[in-house]
Amino acid sequence: MSFATGLRCRECGTTYPDDARYSCDLCFGPLEVTYDLAAAHGVVTREAIEAGPRSIWRYAPLLPDAGEAPVDLGAGWTPLRRATRLAQRLGVRELWLKDDTRNPTGSFKDRVVSTALSSARRLGFTTAACASTGNLATSVAAHAAAIGWPSVTIIPHDLERAKVAMSSIFGGTVLAVEGTYDDVNRLCVELVDEHGDWAFVNINLRPYYAEGSKTIAFEIAEQLGWRLPAQVVVPVASGSQFTKVAKGFAELRALDLVEGAPPRLFAAQAEGCSPVAAAHARGDEVVTPVRPATIARSLAIGNPADGPYVLDELRRGGGDAGAVTDAAIMEGIAELAETEGIFAETAGGVTIATLRQLLERGTLDPEASIVAVISGHGLKTLDAVAGRAGVTATVAPSLAAAEAALAADLLVAAS
Ligand SMILES: *Cc1c(COP(=O)(O)O)cnc(C)c1O
Ligand SMILES: [Zn+2]
Repeated sequence: MSFATGLRCRECGTTYPDDARYSCDLCFGPLEVTYDLAAAHGVVTREAIEAGPRSIWRYAPLLPDAGEAPVDLGAGWTPLRRATRLAQRLGVRELWLKDDTRNPTGSFKDRVVSTALSSARRLGFTTAACASTGNLATSVAAHAAAIGWPSVTIIPHDLERAKVAMSSIFGGTVLAVEGTYDDVNRLCVELVDEHGDWAFVNINLRPYYAEGSKTIAFEIAEQLGWRLPAQVVVPVASGSQFTKVAKGFAELRALDLVEGAPPRLFAAQAEGCSPVAAAHARGDEVVTPVRPATIARSLAIGNPADGPYVLDELRRGGGDAGAVTDAAIMEGIAELAETEGIFAETAGGVTIATLRQLLERGTLDPEASIVAVISGHGLKTLDAVAGRAGVTATVAPSLAAAEAALAADLLVAAS
């Protein structure tokens, strides 16, 4: 059972029923799902949630379209791990990693696809579609396959090979566009008008898609023993995840499931595509689009739809935004792997490197608790680490050769 009541315009507040619409008739503002939190108060309890499935659907009352059988490959309820070795390296007291590499298709996108397609099914759509920087295409294709729907996923032509393979293996149509993600998105907006029964999860299903990201906040609080962390670092592409993590914490507070101040949220971007961090640094209220050039392809959105809302949340919540170089991203991936045994994709490198940058800048407090969202698996971006990850030495199959190579490497490691 869901406490969702309908949709509301984020700009002018006009309300609508929970049907297949995504922008306001009056002002063209984006819509978001509303809930009757007063009715949910006291009904949605910690105990009720804890008795639920080990997936995002344990929060069904706070998601749209949590019917009998949501579209579900098992997204969510990923580990929140205390990172003591990385904390020591960074000089912080309490660090936690939300390990979203552990989702069914290896990225946090499984959360949003699970909610979007559950709504799409109720609303009568028959084909799953999306504009994607890679991870979304994979997740849409996988979830569509599992419910027997055709899928049409549209990506920039120059994505990582693993992301293309992972999207096409599920048997859907994968269209590569000669252009950037922003070109892909523009094209998809046109396709929405042509194909009324196609559910572009992040365009015409966007209000329902976005709700899936709230579950990251829900899980963080529950996994900390119904406690709010002081600070959370979130990677930003379109900004949807960031704004909905904030919404998730706000809903938990409204339901009195947690106490205390809302966490300060920090936005992580790659320097080669940092329109939100740049606007925040300038004190702007709007985002100036950029042309992306970064190894963090999953975050390469130059004209982020939710950019202004991220800026708004940063101002209201007292957070900050950082932007890191490709070299720092590589360093972040290696640092996370070497200290905690987690292999993240480039977006995870962005999060870790930004965490370090904001500590150095002094806006992140090393004495207060920090959660870093690690949003995708490293096997998706093997190309990016190719120059760094390889064998230590290749040797003849003899003890002498092995010992010589080992001695040489240990000598290097010791120096
Ligand atoms: C899509 C994506 C994000 C950010 O998503 P937005 O909600 O568009 O900001 C972060 N990390 C990874 C790995 C992603 O695929
Ligand atoms: Zn409006």
